[in-house]
Amino acid sequence: MAYDLLIRGGRVVDGSGLPSYIADVGVKDGKVAEIGKIKDGAAKTIDAAGLAVSPGFVDHHTHLDAQMLWDPYGTCEPQHGVTSVVMGNCGLSLAPVKAGIEDAIVKSFVRVEAIPRIALEQGVKWNWHSYGEYLDNFEGKVGINVGGLVGHIAVRHHVMGEDAVERKASGAEIQKMRGLISEAMDGGALGMSTNRNDRHMREDGKPVSSRLADDNEFFTLCDVLGERNGGVIETILGRNKVEHFEWYHELARRTQRPILWQSLQHRWSEPNLWREQLDAVEPIFKAGYQAYGLSMTVPLVRHFTLKDCQIFDEFPTWKNLMFLPVEVRKQAFADADTRKKLQGELDTVKNANFHRRWDIPKVEKVFKPENQKYVGKTIAELAAMRNQAPIDAFLDLALEENLETIFWNANNGGDWNAMGEILRSPYVLVGTSDAGAHVLFGADFGYGTILLGLWVRERQVMSLEQAVHKLTFHPASIFGLQGRGLLRQGYAADIAIFDPNTVNAEEPTWANDFPANTKRMVQQAVGMHYTIVNGTVVHDHGRMTGDLPGQVMRGPLYRQQKAAA
Ligand SMILES: [Zn+2]
Repeated sequence: MAYDLLIRGGRVVDGSGLPSYIADVGVKDGKVAEIGKIKDGAAKTIDAAGLAVSPGFVDHHTHLDAQMLWDPYGTCEPQHGVTSVVMGNCGLSLAPVKAGIEDAIVKSFVRVEAIPRIALEQGVKWNWHSYGEYLDNFEGKVGINVGGLVGHIAVRHHVMGEDAVERKASGAEIQKMRGLISEAMDGGALGMSTNRNDRHMREDGKPVSSRLADDNEFFTLCDVLGERNGGVIETILGRNKVEHFEWYHELARRTQRPILWQSLQHRWSEPNLWREQLDAVEPIFKAGYQAYGLSMTVPLVRHFTLKDCQIFDEFPTWKNLMFLPVEVRKQAFADADTRKKLQGELDTVKNANFHRRWDIPKVEKVFKPENQKYVGKTIAELAAMRNQAPIDAFLDLALEENLETIFWNANNGGDWNAMGEILRSPYVLVGTSDAGAHVLFGADFGYGTILLGLWVRERQVMSLEQAVHKLTFHPASIFGLQGRGLLRQGYAADIAIFDPNTVNAEEPTWANDFPANTKRMVQQAVGMHYTIVNGTVVHDHGRMTGDLPGQVMRGPLYRQQKAAA
């Protein structure tokens, strides 16, 4: 047999979590045709000696609903080995829609997902009504595979108009919403998403519409997926305390669908919460139900100087000082009474994200040769070296260098041991890239390459095989992406070819590639050699090929209907 594509001599990490092995992979008609020692030739051959050959990654938590309409690659997804994305998370989708509610949806996206309004106004044409028609827009026009969840926010506005952000729904309105969710599932949605995060508002300060739903509405809507036996239910409640787990348990038990909740993170400000969450979710799985916590692989790191920083904004005196002219601020930092006040606030202000631990922030860069010895030391170590209290050592060093000293801090995800336990947990689904959202504040397209580079290679918290499993077959299974997520005969030839010795993500940079030249943050990868979608190379060493082999991944109820017809 002659193949369309032959990948020679790579190490096949097949997505199952089983040990990897050296083999050739033959691709024909967009599918994996053979794996092993292959003699036949191919139209195109890739030499993968020394490289890993794995299924393409599945980025299941994106907000690319709008971006995919103007950017067929969802840039920079394929650069990081991603071949499939799921849109419609956190209660937000661009369908179903009817005349008059478009702006209510835009208002929610602009604020919650921080997508610039002008990009949405110019980039979204609203040439659809139902969820199925929205998905039709991508047929034959995308470079990666796309699927999506139907969002509660659009559904609620569809039925209630602007009342959706003012009041409870009536029984009749809830029945209409159920009809829309069912119709979206028939049109190919992979499930539904809701949003109850009390920090999530629209652009006009009103709560996003799903926040006005009571438990009866939530459960009655989610029941649709249970009754129709298909799809996932994705939720965001804001901070997840242990008392929320009863709610997840009830939802999972009622619907017997996979529940996804946000999020399970290591936070220095609440360093034991992640363990309490894992302990609280275990009984749900033990009882036979699924309620996966979503977790991120990217530590929340900030580099700062005392010339310009926001990490102390939760403390009033610190915040006020940061707004003073630098010379006045320096005098204040040098003043003993002010220091007492600064320390006092660190000791007393409640509910801060800042961890108040001097053994975490580090000296990253100094400007005087005599201070070179402090580079890489934590503030606690700096204090010990200088025989001072930490706050004095911290402020004195900055003052000696005209506040130019660069410090490093991580509020979340900085504890290697905690991150290892979180990432290894069978109850955790890795990845909250939020790709397509928060485009002015960051870019986390590289959560997968960071898992492979930082957590597998540098920190060794899990094997390469386990990590690839978490990026591929694990999400593909939960989201019901049929025929994807494994490198096996007959599976879609969605493939990532990378160097396990170098793979990683670069620091985000700026681009002007959104509609109306709107700027946004992007992120490139290192060590990702090729990304292949349905058998066609779309990404070759950082260069996009221009091919559009992506498919629309429609959900189980659509497939059932098609099979019956
Ligand atoms: Zn999200």
